[in-house]
Amino acid sequence: MQYYSTRGNTAKVSSAEAIIKGLAPDGGLFVPAERPGIFDIATLPDSSYHELANHIFKIFLSDFTEEEIEAAVKNAYTPTVFDHPEITPLYQVAEKEHILELWHGPTYAFKDIALQILPHLLKKALNKTGEDNEIVILTATSGDTGKSALEGFRDIPGIRIIVYFPEKGVSEIQKLQMTTQEGNNVSVAAVKGNFDDAQRGVKEIFNDPIFGDKLAARGFRLSSANSINWGRLLPQIVYYFWAYLRLVKQNKIVKGDKVNFIVPTGNFGNILAGYYACTLGLPVNRLICASNQNNILTDFINSGLYDSGRKLFLTISPSMDILISSNLERLLFELTEHDSEVIEGWMEELKTKGSYRVDKFTLNKIQNLFYAGYADDSKTLATIKSVYNDNKYLVDTHTAVGKAVLNKYLSENNDNCHNIILSTASPYKFASSVMKALRSIPEKESELEVLNKLARITGTTIPKNLACLGSKKIMHKQVITHDTMRDHLLNTLAIS
Ligand SMILES: *Cc1c(COP(=O)(O)O)cnc(C)c1O
Repeated sequence: MQYYSTRGNTAKVSSAEAIIKGLAPDGGLFVPAERPGIFDIATLPDSSYHELANHIFKIFLSDFTEEEIEAAVKNAYTPTVFDHPEITPLYQVAEKEHILELWHGPTYAFKDIALQILPHLLKKALNKTGEDNEIVILTATSGDTGKSALEGFRDIPGIRIIVYFPEKGVSEIQKLQMTTQEGNNVSVAAVKGNFDDAQRGVKEIFNDPIFGDKLAARGFRLSSANSINWGRLLPQIVYYFWAYLRLVKQNKIVKGDKVNFIVPTGNFGNILAGYYACTLGLPVNRLICASNQNNILTDFINSGLYDSGRKLFLTISPSMDILISSNLERLLFELTEHDSEVIEGWMEELKTKGSYRVDKFTLNKIQNLFYAGYADDSKTLATIKSVYNDNKYLVDTHTAVGKAVLNKYLSENNDNCHNIILSTASPYKFASSVMKALRSIPEKESELEVLNKLARITGTTIPKNLACLGSKKIMHKQVITHDTMRDHLLNTLAIS
């Protein structure tokens, strides 16, 4: 399978190249150039997550050998890294409601599913292409990608990892997770502003050929661990099928029955993987796109107008505090039957006017598959509480947004489908908000103190890498601005 850019101005590349490059040189995103065909659900391997992952990876990474893929899958999804043998276990909370726990990796957010395997794939890709530059992974994070990428890439020879997070846009625990990061090839800096500022800075660096040449002359090549990298999206397709096959195995559905997936959404990466799963033949009724108060995607899916001219709210689900959802470009490219001219036009409008409107035909296609809704913070808190009271199950703030939007969907639709909510983070990652939902807490209590309280009250256990956070040394204290990101990068690499 080959890949090309959504903007249509680059030659086709192998999957190895697409993974190394991250972003296409014309500013677009890499997508499969061919349709991979449709799976026969009845013949998909369902005995282990690994077998299923191998099966799906082999189709999209056709320039990798089977042995390479199997080794990567085996090394990434091991018990020393993921604390559940099913990797993404499915937990039933009500008759037709299931929660797909995507946070059993080392940093307790769903990003680990992709970012634990991406380094293995990247290393193999580098061998294939004979790359001899040192790779610099540049990552903007709304909180979870950063830590997950740092854990995935730390101490890997030939690779550096640099993470930029919005100074005031992440939770206290997310920040501590990143600023205490150990490893000989890691660098972390806070960027003044919000996630979009950090993401814009990273994209500008990627799209600056002169800067790229300067780095290349010094033996460095940039790559991305953000979900603009195809290598981030691909591993996420697997768990959509896995969840479905589990329901079949548990006799809750029969093969062919349609289900709904509810996806707490920010950069549109996770839900886009669900879309690709649909194109591969996964029987899906609706993909439900759940947003927080930054409900730009809700408005877009309901109206066809993508309008970023609005204020970004800092919410209790910070990993979704995003106005420019990069991966939407891939969806639009697919829905317009790969019309890169149209895509380029819309993206140009977004850049210059801050908005674009898709045509009726495309909007219809979107609305046939997607449903969109949002929940503000107070609804989110109320949802955490009611899920806990009704189901004795603790959800984090992002997952609660998903549940709240599902409730709204169910009040409007009666499709009789099973519903699978993608749970994107452990409740402990957002302990203060979760605690606040269950009972009031003193204003001044630090998030680390709250961890203990949450464990005591709910009788659950603090995940081990969070329990030790308080005793870790802060290694990274730098605060920079969007304008000084290039300088910071050069300094980090000790060149100028
Ligand atoms: C990243 C993240 C999201 C949003 O996922 P996208 O792929 O960016 O849409 C939702 N919840 C959590 C906890 C996350 O870390």
